Amino acid sequence: MNQYNNARGSFNYSIKRSNRKTVSIIVEADSSVRILAPSKMNQTAIEALLDKKTEWITTHLDKMANRKVVPLAFETGNHMLYLGDSLRLKVITVIGKREEKIFVSGGVISAYTSNAAPEYVKKNLTNWFRLRSEEIINERVAFYTQKMGKIPNRVVVKTQTKRWGSCSSKRDIFLNWRLVFAPIEVIDYVIIHELCHLVFMNHSSNFWHLVETFDSKYKTHRSWLKENGQQLFQM
Ligand SMILES: [Zn+2]
Repeated sequence: MNQYNNARGSFNYSIKRSNRKTVSIIVEADSSVRILAPSKMNQTAIEALLDKKTEWITTHLDKMANRKVVPLAFETGNHMLYLGDSLRLKVITVIGKREEKIFVSGGVISAYTSNAAPEYVKKNLTNWFRLRSEEIINERVAFYTQKMGKIPNRVVVKTQTKRWGSCSSKRDIFLNWRLVFAPIEVIDYVIIHELCHLVFMNHSSNFWHLVETFDSKYKTHRSWLKENGQQLFQM
């Protein structure tokens, strides 16, 4: 790890040299800076580049710092996403389990619960979001399989710890139930992405061209997931 320091900014960075032709500066989500450099590029040249790019790097580091994940607390007043909208949580204690329910109205998600302990509220909310997720995803999958004429073997909405969707060589498509927190256009993008894997089992330019045919704004939707993904994995 190297340290860069001047009046305009300071940060730590690492250098990886390889037989590449150009140099890249990457500001990672964990606020680390990585330099991918051609093997011949020496330390002086790298520092000169950092002098030129200080402002760009510090701007990105600030952005990453502001994007720190806000923990969900499952108490009244907290906010959570549903189809890309931020909803304010309202926890209402009721007498019996039979009166437990969740509903959304006017920017508020109301959780009627017999037990206001955050862990219990979280469990009820998770169940509710999972059911909504299955309904919404199944409906969108039906729409896109018809529109695109690509039929998977089966579609399963499940818990995935790191990915939003996947497509197996048996033409099974798996989609992460947490997509329900994302805007519908982003859910559609992931569905389109996986259905396109029924044609191309890779991320070649042909693959992205096909994705673009059905989602002209796929780059925006892909970035949305990159920027908000961590926040969505809290439930
Ligand atoms: Zn893919």
